[in-house]
Order: sequence, then structure tokens, then C-alpha cells
Amino acid sequence: MGDAVAQAADLHNWAKHPLHKELLRFLGGGVTVHVQPAVRAEACPALVLNADYRPLSYYPLSIWCWQDAIKAVFLDRVNIVSEYDKTVRSPSFEMRLPSVVSLKSYVRPSRQPAFTRFNVFLRDRFTCQYCGSREDLTFDHLLPRSKGGQTTWDNVVTACSPCNLRKGDRLAGDVEMWPHQPPFAPSLHDLHRNGRLFPPNYLHESWLDYLYWDTELEP
Ligand SMILES: [Zn+2]
Repeated sequence: MGDAVAQAADLHNWAKHPLHKELLRFLGGGVTVHVQPAVRAEACPALVLNADYRPLSYYPLSIWCWQDAIKAVFLDRVNIVSEYDKTVRSPSFEMRLPSVVSLKSYVRPSRQPAFTRFNVFLRDRFTCQYCGSREDLTFDHLLPRSKGGQTTWDNVVTACSPCNLRKGDRLAGDVEMWPHQPPFAPSLHDLHRNGRLFPPNYLHESWLDYLYWDTELEP
């Protein structure tokens, strides 16, 4: 997850890009977007919209690699909403890579954020819950796994490697290491609020029209 941390630290450079300036203007207006940190432009990912033209999911953002997007086109499961300039060719056909696709059948979206590494980091604002560091982040089990601790929202906190090592297999009380905030299962609203602080590192301009939260989505 070094990428995600570097991404957060690199916010300054990110904000200089004209497209991102525009995006920040939107953010300032109460609109939020977020993209998974691992997305690379070379992968030509397609943003996946539900049949109502809203992203299928925000956290993580619903995106497919171009291979999956094209497969879905040929299986007639999606409409192409927007395209990259880049084309793929075979002897018998040529097509531009989709940058945005929409599902033909509506899928009821989940109201609960997925329990993922990225979402745990986002809940904890990419900050070690013990010392506040933003580097070398990992996870700590509050009740260690060796003592029966589960990998769940309420037992996992973001911790930097040094703190994780220091705490080891011991209980918070034994080592006097208390997390900044007790771990909890966040709502989409919680992640949405934190998502404003950590803008995306990859964003195709064709996605901008679809990446917003409207009031109806707020639980
Ligand atoms: Zn730490």
C-alpha cells in the first residue's frame, strides 16, 4: 500500500494538474470523487456505471481493466458510454477502448462499504493510529490474532510497521499503546468525508461527469 501513502503525500503535485484543479474546484463545491490508488493510466481502466449512470460502487470505485470491459461489451452486458483514443485490433476487428461503460441491468448497490485494506486506511485517514505516521502503513489487530482476534472492522487499525512491531502480539493495555480512535465499521458517509482528503491519482476526464455524490445517495 506504499502507493496509497505516496499518493496522499503527493497531493501537492497532483493538485497542479489542470484537470485536477478543475476537480478540486468541484470538491470545494461539496462534490467528492475517489479512485482506488492502484489504478494506472496504462491499464486504460473503464469506469463501470450502474444502469442509472451512477458508479456501481464508490469505495472501492467500480473500475474494470480494458480486457474485462471489452468482454462485457461482447457479452452484451454493458453499453459503451465513452471511449479512449486508444484502439485494440485483431485481424477481424478494431475498436476503441471503453473509458466508461454502463450496465444494461440495474444492480442494487450495497449500502455498506466493503471491508478492504484501502477502506480501512481511508477510515483511519492513512494515518498510523498509534503514532500518527503516514509512512510504511500496515494493519494491527487490536486483539492479536494469536489471542483469537478477528480481522474485522472493529479489531483492525492502521499502524505503521515500527508501531506494529513494537506492539507485536501484546494487548494495547500491556504496552500502553492505544489507537487514536477505536476501530469501527464506517458508513459510506464516513468514507465519503475522508475521501475528500485523499483525491485520486488516476482519473480519466470522461469519468468526471459520473463521479459525484448527489444528496440522494447519502444514507
Ligand atoms: Zn506508528
